[in-house]
Amino acid sequence: MSKIINVIKGTKDILPQDVAAWHRLEETALEVFTKYGYKEIRTPIFEATELFARGVGDTTDIVNKEMYTFEKSDRSLTLRPENTAGVVRSFIENGMARLSAPVKLWYHGPMFRYERPQAGRQRQFHQVGVEMFGIKQPTADAEVILLAVNYLKALGLNDLLVEINSLGCPTCREAYKKKIKEVLKPEFDNLCEDCQNRYEKNPLRLLDCKVESCKEIFEKPEIKKVIQSDFVCEECAEHFRELKSYLDKMGVKYQENKLLVRGLDYYNRTVFEIKSNNLGSQNAVCGGGRYDSLVRNLGGDDVPAVGWAMGMERLNSLLPAIDMAKLDAYIVSNDSTQAFVLAEELRNAGKIVEFDLSNKKFTKQLEKASKSAKFALILGEDEINNGTVSVKNLETSEQVTVQRDKVLALI
Ligand code: ATP
Ligand code: MG
Repeated sequence: MSKIINVIKGTKDILPQDVAAWHRLEETALEVFTKYGYKEIRTPIFEATELFARGVGDTTDIVNKEMYTFEKSDRSLTLRPENTAGVVRSFIENGMARLSAPVKLWYHGPMFRYERPQAGRQRQFHQVGVEMFGIKQPTADAEVILLAVNYLKALGLNDLLVEINSLGCPTCREAYKKKIKEVLKPEFDNLCEDCQNRYEKNPLRLLDCKVESCKEIFEKPEIKKVIQSDFVCEECAEHFRELKSYLDKMGVKYQENKLLVRGLDYYNRTVFEIKSNNLGSQNAVCGGGRYDSLVRNLGGDDVPAVGWAMGMERLNSLLPAIDMAKLDAYIVSNDSTQAFVLAEELRNAGKIVEFDLSNKKFTKQLEKASKSAKFALILGEDEINNGTVSVKNLETSEQVTVQRDKVLALI
């Protein structure tokens, strides 16, 4: 016997019994997002490596540690670790800045990150997300957050926690970064290795470190005071106030969290996350924010944008499972031709129908029917001779014999 080849660590098959749950996420997304004017976009799952280096940021964990990068014909290519960069590339390349604003796009599909696999964390995982281009006003931030909340509601998830923060603009953030570095300098040796590496390149990223000893440092009164200080400039503050006022008016409950900075480099002003208490330590289902400089950084015009992505595995783990759909009918017959013809008639009328393809005994066929279908359609010798079908309701065990053309109405 040949050696079995296994699925790669950190990846998973989505098996037939689980697919209905994925359709639920995708169909609900299409339904809800369409109401807000979003159009679906599908970009390739690999792109030039440089797109992510520039688009996600080369001080991020994603770019530094987590990318699946390979060479082909002297080009460096990378499996997408997220889809904002790809969508922005496509937005620029297809001249979407010329369309009247806002341009609203949504996507879903697999993403790839080389991370330590654990509950809620895979190396191939799936995201559903939205991006809105062309609006600098906080109405856009409010609408995308409301959309996230309403998508979750449509899935039946009502009790998730929305956290928001403002990272300010590059100008006001610079002073804040400096202050953070200053106040953390005496603690440098006590920071975790990751934080020590981030200290110079990306000091704000320290704030959402998950390591306990770092979290304790940020709780020290003199450090906490700096972290919690209002550093954003008046324009950024006004943007944030307006966002909150829209959220209040739309009945979206949220908490402000100054430690929320998000992993990606490109965010400015609004960032947000949606969390669940039922997910253990990987508790974020949604992350997003405003990224006004990304389109320009990737070579496009000055186009403001805001968006979010949700982890679909994490969404599914919060939702009840869905049973596999039963067949509408299973045809029980020793005459394959007759069974074929009846099955096709009913399929053409929209029913889900199967019949025995391998000459099994009548009793075996009945067993299969009762396991897999709502109705058994029995085509024995008598029925065939009389042009009838015996229709057995497999839930109630009631059985009636009717003319063939009456079957469809009964199942
Ligand atoms: P985390 O802090 O959990 O690593 P992140 O900031 O890296 O999240 P984003 O890049 O914002 O995550 O992605 C948005 C969402 O995608 C996350 O909130 C999460 O639900 C999901 N997600 C991210 N990485 C993974 C992964 N490796 N496996 C499964 N889901 C993931
Ligand atoms: Mg991550």
